[in-house]
Amino acid sequence: MAPDPMRSLVIVGGGTAGWLTAGILASRLGVAQREDLTITVVESPNVPILGVGEGTWPTIRQSLKVMGVAEDDFLAACDATFKQGSQFDGWRQGGHSYTHPFTPPHRFGDVDLTQAWPADLGFDEAVCFQTALCRLGLAPKARGNGEYEGIGNYAYHFDAGKVAIFLRDHCTARLGVRHIVDDITGCAQGADGAITALHTRHHGDIAGDMFVDCSGQHGVLIDRIFKVPLVNCRDVLFVDRALAIQVPYPAPDAPIASVTMATAQAAGWIWDIGLTKRRGMGYVYSSTYASEDQAFDTLDRYVRQISGKPMASEPRSIGINAGYRERFWVANCVAVGVASGFVEPLEASSIAMIEMSANHLAEHMTFDAGAMAVERSGSTASLIKCGATPSTFSNCIMC
Ligand SMILES: Cc1cc2nc3c(=O)[nH]c(=O)nc-3n(C[C@H](O)[C@H](O)[C@H](O)COP(=O)(O)OP(=O)(O)OC[C@H]3O[C@@H](n4cnc5c(N)ncnc54)[C@H](O)[C@@H]3O)c2cc1C
Repeated sequence: MAPDPMRSLVIVGGGTAGWLTAGILASRLGVAQREDLTITVVESPNVPILGVGEGTWPTIRQSLKVMGVAEDDFLAACDATFKQGSQFDGWRQGGHSYTHPFTPPHRFGDVDLTQAWPADLGFDEAVCFQTALCRLGLAPKARGNGEYEGIGNYAYHFDAGKVAIFLRDHCTARLGVRHIVDDITGCAQGADGAITALHTRHHGDIAGDMFVDCSGQHGVLIDRIFKVPLVNCRDVLFVDRALAIQVPYPAPDAPIASVTMATAQAAGWIWDIGLTKRRGMGYVYSSTYASEDQAFDTLDRYVRQISGKPMASEPRSIGINAGYRERFWVANCVAVGVASGFVEPLEASSIAMIEMSANHLAEHMTFDAGAMAVERSGSTASLIKCGATPSTFSNCIMC
């Protein structure tokens, strides 16, 4: 019997999307043990990663576990903390606060607690113990819990720059992923439009059978090569800019919140995420309703309230082009992460969508052109059926 042909999957981009996709695919497809499949990540030495995605969903635990990452190593290397949900402050009126915990509402036997909601308690407190854990500053895990196990459902807050480095080292050392640092300058395509090789500045051509575009807003393949338009969401989503800043804790033993705090503002909302060594904060706002100077003042006021000091450095100004690709799988190229679309970070869904995309790809991996055409249309159809925003090609986790 003829041996299986050697197949090569090439991922463009070494941000959260690139390395999570590489790690999930390499571990689920057993790349380190196979002779017939390679996965290569190509990342530019000149284009920095976005680096602001610090909040995750509980799905991240399964992704790290599948990759064989030790939870303690991850927590220590990425300044990570436990995230038990999000706390929304001031969204109805000043002083109002509610928590969206990750643990679902309780049922006791036949009693559905969501129907037995005492009027003097907030819904979030009445139906789920985790809200109290968050308010009391308690962890979602007890000392006796094993890796990735907890009393309450949890995710992490982490330093996105450190995560990319940690996953890169893990994927290359343990999972057999190849890594090339170079700029993609173009590509060669076959008569059917499929990419046959990527042109690089210093490493010649990188041939492949399938390509995953994780190049963020640059859309090196999905946008520049395939010119798939971005479906704009500005008619329903007004935020289009963010100012992001890192803020030190006032003391090394200052308490660390285990929720993402999201505080409503006149033209958007401020996120506040506690890591082990610093806090990450930012104002996501609509430039129609606030100038950058006004947004700066709003963020500065928040930072002063929290830390008693003005912002110590200039915040980073980031444009948000809310939308999703009209198609996210063209020929043999799939877009994952911001290359496929990004709406806004309020529910921290972007990294979860990356995980879903990578898992879907692992389950439906094929190098056959005919089968790929079925997967392309099947993925889109299942999204349309479940009504999810097709910003990636995975099914909606809520269904
Ligand atoms: C303000 C803000 C807050 C956010 N907060 C959250 C959050 O809390 N939770 C969440 O889930 N998500 C959040 N997100 C989204 C999150 O940041 C992204 O999902 C995440 O960073 C993934 O980005 P990426 O890997 O797709 O792209 P990037 O991080 O931009 O990586 C792109 C990669 O492509 C490479 N590249 C680009 N061009 C080339 C080229 N020509 N050749 C080779 N390589 C190239 C770059 O070098 C880089 O490695 C937030 C986004 C914003 C804007």
